[in-house]
Amino acid sequence: MRPLIAGNWKMHGSLRDAGVLAEGVRAGGAGARAELLVCPPFPYLVPVGGALGSDVALGGQDCHAAAKGAHTGDVAAAMLRDVGASYVILGHSERRADHGETDSVVRAKAEAALAAGLTPIVCVGESEAQRVVGEAEAVVTLQLDGSLPEGFAEAGGVVAYEPVWAIGTGLTPTEVEIAAMHATIRANLEKHFAAAGAKLRILYGGSVKPGNAKGILALPHVDGALVGGASLVAGDFLAIAAGVPDAA
Ligand code: PEP
Repeated sequence: MRPLIAGNWKMHGSLRDAGVLAEGVRAGGAGARAELLVCPPFPYLVPVGGALGSDVALGGQDCHAAAKGAHTGDVAAAMLRDVGASYVILGHSERRADHGETDSVVRAKAEAALAAGLTPIVCVGESEAQRVVGEAEAVVTLQLDGSLPEGFAEAGGVVAYEPVWAIGTGLTPTEVEIAAMHATIRANLEKHFAAAGAKLRILYGGSVKPGNAKGILALPHVDGALVGGASLVAGDFLAIAAGVPDAA
């Protein structure tokens, strides 16, 4: 499967910054071994989509579970699709923390994304305290069981393993720990979706940088990366994408 390198721009930058960054990423899109995806803040989706061209995909950072309605401040999956998005990040730990999103909320959002023709990227990951007491795999398994909707595999849904303590901290699990968690996630996907689960992409996210990307991306069942901070510098984002193994 073609690896996916996704940039989560979060709530950073100005319109001008977004345009410059998109232009920089565009340059690396054509002929990249990995599929490239950029997820800007909502107000910048249209100009960034225009600047990215057709070789880099566009995604949202969230959507509402309802198709439409009285939900002030929210965005429907169909609206994302309408402005050219093909992916949406769901259940990011910052949304789980800032907005109290539970697994069932994430699952409802993923259903809405599928109904609108978007590919959901469902984020899971343990806290530092959960890892310290040896609960990381159990926590992630519960999150997967609660967050993945029917139809996820048919639509080529993506899972992103993002240990909360590794996001934006410069810390990462060891490669052995990442490989072990990704094997657990693969087994869970196969439990839910049988053979189709073997073909779904599992991204690693949490302080991926040009310096550690190559090693992480070479691990079994690591099918790409979800990148926060390093996606705000086009050269770093493209250097991470260049770390995808040749044979991939
Ligand atoms: C993220 O927020 O999805 C993320 C992985 O951030 P960072 O790369 O900055 O750790």
